[in-house]
Amino acid sequence: MISRPKGTNDLLPEDIWRWHKLEELIRKECALFNFHEIRTPVFEETKLFQRGIGEGTDIVEKEMYTFLDKAERSLTLRPEGTASVVRAFIENNLQEMGLPVKLYYLGPMFRYEKPQSGRYRQFHQFGVECFGSPEPVLDAEVILLASEIYKKLGIKNVIIKLNSIGCQACRPQYIAKLKDELKKSKDSLCEDCVRRLDVNPLRVLDCKEEKCKAITKSLPPIYDYLCPECKEHFNKLKQILNLFELSYVEEPRLVRGLDYYTKTVFEFTVENLGAQNAIGAGGRYDKLVEEVGGKPTYAVGFAMGIERSLQVGGALWQKEPDVDLYIISIGDQTKEEALRQLRLARQKGLKTELDTLNRSVKAQFKQADKLKAKFCLILGPDELLQGQVKLKNMQSGEELQLPLGDWLGGIIL
Ligand code: AMP
Repeated sequence: MISRPKGTNDLLPEDIWRWHKLEELIRKECALFNFHEIRTPVFEETKLFQRGIGEGTDIVEKEMYTFLDKAERSLTLRPEGTASVVRAFIENNLQEMGLPVKLYYLGPMFRYEKPQSGRYRQFHQFGVECFGSPEPVLDAEVILLASEIYKKLGIKNVIIKLNSIGCQACRPQYIAKLKDELKKSKDSLCEDCVRRLDVNPLRVLDCKEEKCKAITKSLPPIYDYLCPECKEHFNKLKQILNLFELSYVEEPRLVRGLDYYTKTVFEFTVENLGAQNAIGAGGRYDKLVEEVGGKPTYAVGFAMGIERSLQVGGALWQKEPDVDLYIISIGDQTKEEALRQLRLARQKGLKTELDTLNRSVKAQFKQADKLKAKFCLILGPDELLQGQVKLKNMQSGEELQLPLGDWLGGIIL
């Protein structure tokens, strides 16, 4: 017996309807916000992610599925969507669509992480990326779109954590201060943070280890170091979020560790998800397009974890019945007519099924019940000779005798 690879999931028919509903919700909401779908390959050249996510990150350092193809090219299964969308934006000159360019994607991502509840090696993300505007109204638009989707999923107690990590003008001063302070307590930091101190000191701020948290608690918040432009951007963003009536919590320790992230960072969390409680995250990355080889282009985006969002959302959704109509044939001589009626019913848009296992009449009714068919069309040999059929409403039990050519009118869904 060969099992599925560790950290992956089979999405089975009994659950997939929830995925379809969420995807439908996402597509509708994106259309309302005028975002356009983009589909990029699931693998890219490895160096795209090395540049586009950053050498100092956990993803690039330890989590990538990287392999050589037959021509010895180094390729990597995408661990996230942003780098690929940025590459596609540059390669296809998408700025010609007219700025701002508002894109979204949906699909599988791959990270070699330690699997646990809510953390997989193949998981799915929905994400958006907006290119071309420095204005905080676009940051707000991305946060609002995400919030609307969580709201429509019925997820309660979503917390929006918000921070600004400044820009290349103001962040270096903060990082210098951070390094100075952290060096004093170097011996008490966890192993990862000792390393981060050199490669990625901002990341020490969001370390989950208690001993590191205790040290960073007393450090000054980055807000105190923001330049006037970054402060104004952050304050304007908060004003717009207030106008949209979105509540948020300012979280001075929320960071992204790389230079091309600028200003806004945010994360959506829920309380009842245990350790893996982030259901989405995003931010502004005004320097990334340049980093990947394009012209300087403002950008802001967000990604949402589908598995985790479905774990807490869509609880009130009802599955639609698989079948509107089940056709029951009594006796062999009705089977041909049953096939004709099957075809007709499907042409008229009814989800229709009939027995393909030569079941007894009783077993056919049982099957119709099992499929939760709303109606049964019953073809009996004598009635059929007189051009008649029976239509049974499976909920009310009501049965109507109707002409063979005119039973469709009896169906009210
Ligand atoms: P990130 O790209 O790491 O900011 O992740 C964005 C969202 O994707 C997170 O908030 C999670 O909801 C989801 N996510 C990230 N990694 C995983 C994973 N390994 N398994 C399941 N969901 C994940």
